[in-house]
Amino acid sequence: MKIAVAKGDGIGPEIMQAVLAIFDASKAGLQYEFVEMGKWVFDKGFSNGMTPQAQQTIEELGILFKGPMETPKGKGVKSVNVTARKTWNTYANKRVFQSLHGVDTVFSKAGIPIDLTIVRENIEDTYGGIEHMLTHDVALSRRFITRPGSMQVIRYAFEMAKKQNARRITCGHKANIMKLTDGLFLEVFYEVAKEYPELAADDKIVDDLAMQLVVKPNQYDVIVLTNLQGDIISDLCAGLVGGLGFAPSANIGDYISIFEAVHGTAPDIAGKGIANPTALLLSGLALLRHVGLTENAAVIENALLYTLEQGIRTGDFGDRSKPALNTMQFAEAIIGNF
Ligand code: NAD
Repeated sequence: MKIAVAKGDGIGPEIMQAVLAIFDASKAGLQYEFVEMGKWVFDKGFSNGMTPQAQQTIEELGILFKGPMETPKGKGVKSVNVTARKTWNTYANKRVFQSLHGVDTVFSKAGIPIDLTIVRENIEDTYGGIEHMLTHDVALSRRFITRPGSMQVIRYAFEMAKKQNARRITCGHKANIMKLTDGLFLEVFYEVAKEYPELAADDKIVDDLAMQLVVKPNQYDVIVLTNLQGDIISDLCAGLVGGLGFAPSANIGDYISIFEAVHGTAPDIAGKGIANPTALLLSGLALLRHVGLTENAAVIENALLYTLEQGIRTGDFGDRSKPALNTMQFAEAIIGNF
């Protein structure tokens, strides 16, 4: 099977090389069609950060595995990440946060395992980037929440929660203040909930949710949110399981799905070959499962967990008294544990 791969900017090519080496060593049998996307493509003069050939390839293959990409600074330039999600209507951003042995956090030290899934609406909200200056001193941003847009992501969240036998599904929102926009999202949530009586559905105001996730994360299971609030809450959850180096993400649409790490291009460590490839690898595992390569995913996942349990680490996590491996050495350690 063939997938489209965009290596990305900054640490992107380094972590992508490591993850594809792990895929190949597991004999996943994937073929990669490398596509041109990212900051360097903006620099070549393509205003949306991808070449027409890249767009065509991704549309033909339906799966894009991508490294992080930098948005060039300056007014009027849209993020290629946001453009990709909109172009292909990948309306649901699924992020799974699980405690990993060998990755110390406040919760792992207290013996509290974390297993949370965040589904973030991926297209609407303030991400339309519709902003203008009303006067020299007043800036205005518009926020769109639509019934069909809310419906598709909330339905996806309920279906997913049902498939993974979730105990509870919670809608995070700020409908007490944004009564029409978040109010509509919440209304649709309870409308869809009626079709899933087997799932316990409830809602939480997002600021309270943030506090409760930090104090007692285990009480939640699946959480669905609008775009901006989902972005913030999912980074908070990344912190609960050890940071951005352990946060995978899948952008799901009806025709095209995009798998990527939550973190960015890490310009501070780019080019040094020391980045942690785990988040991209976890996103890769979601990709393998999405295309039916479940056995390869299980082999790689077990090897990754065992490697982490052994205390093998890159510089950004783990026991600082132990030496840190570089990106490719870390990948080789995982392959050695197949
Ligand atoms: P960042 O995630 O790139 O970095 C934040 C911190 O985390 C840095 O200290 C970095 O070194 C560290 N870090 C991130 N990933 C790491 C990894 N795999 N291993 C070890 N350490 C890691 O966030 P930023 O600095 O705010 O953003 C940099 C650029 O990335 C920006 O241009 C931003 O637009 C872009 N970005 C892209 C995506 C994406 O492509 N989906 C997501 C977020 C940010």
